[in-house]
Amino acid sequence: MYPFTYHRPASLDDAKARLTESEDGRPLAGGMSLLPTMRFRLASCADLVDLNGIESLAGIERSDSNLRIGAMTRHVAVAESPEVRSAISALAALAGSIGDVQVRNRGTIGGSICFADPAADYPAGLLGLGATVNTDRRAIAADDFFTGLYETALEDGEIVVSVEFPVPERAGWAKFGNQASRFAVVAVMVSRAADGAVRLAVTGARSYVFRVPEMEQALARDFAAEALDGIAMSSEGLNEDLHADKDYRSHLIGVMAKRAVRDALAR
Ligand SMILES: Cc1cc2nc3c(=O)[nH]c(=O)nc-3n(C[C@H](O)[C@H](O)[C@H](O)COP(=O)(O)OP(=O)(O)OC[C@H]3O[C@@H](n4cnc5c(N)ncnc54)[C@H](O)[C@@H]3O)c2cc1C
Repeated sequence: MYPFTYHRPASLDDAKARLTESEDGRPLAGGMSLLPTMRFRLASCADLVDLNGIESLAGIERSDSNLRIGAMTRHVAVAESPEVRSAISALAALAGSIGDVQVRNRGTIGGSICFADPAADYPAGLLGLGATVNTDRRAIAADDFFTGLYETALEDGEIVVSVEFPVPERAGWAKFGNQASRFAVVAVMVSRAADGAVRLAVTGARSYVFRVPEMEQALARDFAAEALDGIAMSSEGLNEDLHADKDYRSHLIGVMAKRAVRDALAR
């Protein structure tokens, strides 16, 4: 680990000031991804600004049509929240499928989406549910937030404050996870809004999360797993690693998409 200065602000304004003053500052959330990369000297910063002391950044609020989750809300809190379970139970299932008990107890929704790992689950949750990311500066639609491998639309020093999800009519989650880490080999979030619009997002299969318009259109006509029959995903551009090759991942997208639709219909 390279040397750095540790800060523990008690308010968002204080955190913003620390990041603005620093030439190379980074927020620290659960530390589940950032600390190992710093430990192995794959990442470094001059100032580490710990968000764990800022109470206003954690918590879950539900209105009739909206679910707001604070950036510092732990995965376990989302998985076990009665508000999340009643509004979008597929999102609670997603959070409960992340990693292991230790990771779920420390990791946060804000840290997960800011890290933007290609195999992370929340990016599919945000894109598949049409969420909005609120930062200390602006609101960013999920469609515009994820921009590449470990890349987001965030500017230097910008802090994610919360994520807002519109409550869908139906939503389903299906994940084929790595047996050791439980990161997604391929996972799918699908949702249907009250106006019939369908969103289907895939994580784990490319360098970053993406939607599948052909599947969304077929499901908008008929929200049933069988509506996806005959829609083949090209393996071009898909990830290939020791866990799965491109052809296997393209097959898995079809299988996980159908499972997600069945999951949505069963909830
Ligand atoms: C063994 C293991 C298994 C895992 N399995 C899974 C899995 O199955 N599925 C899955 O999705 N994830 C998995 N993860 C990742 C886990 O979900 C982490 O929680 C997540 O990657 C990072 O969240 P964090 O809160 O720990 O963020 P940190 O590691 O603290 O930060 C990550 C990055 O986000 C930035 N950041 C954090 N919060 C903010 C904010 N509010 N505003 C702006 N920038 C911010 C940091 O500066 C850093 O660059 C796993 C991790 C481990 C170690």
